[in-house]
Amino acid sequence: MDDLYRELIIDRYKNPQFRGELEPADISYHDDNPLCGDKIRIDLRVDENDIVTEAVFSGHGCSISLASADLVVESILGKTLDEVKEMDKEMVLELLGIELGPVRLKCALLSLKVLKAGVYGLGEGESSDDLVA
Ligand code: ZN
Repeated sequence: MDDLYRELIIDRYKNPQFRGELEPADISYHDDNPLCGDKIRIDLRVDENDIVTEAVFSGHGCSISLASADLVVESILGKTLDEVKEMDKEMVLELLGIELGPVRLKCALLSLKVLKAGVYGLGEGESSDDLVA
């Protein structure tokens, strides 16, 4: 792992910038990654033009899952919901800046999965795996 990015991940894990909950939120969704025990919830508020004005995450998990959630949430502020729907795996990996094996990839992509499931309005427990393919 590249040292610079490793530091970014550790820093975001220890000092998240966008940790919290919104009550009420316009969009709220949560899911977990049973392989690692990561649990992430993301809450959003959007304005009348479907632009994300507030976004926070909560939950617990490993450093990769939590750093990823903090970075993903930060990256969607000011985006439209349509733009959020177009986010993919590559965008998250770019934010993290590291190469990940298949197990760690699930940790890194959990926040994107939660975010997209929420934006697409999936129900509790509906499969959202194809949203992050
Ligand atoms: Zn994890």
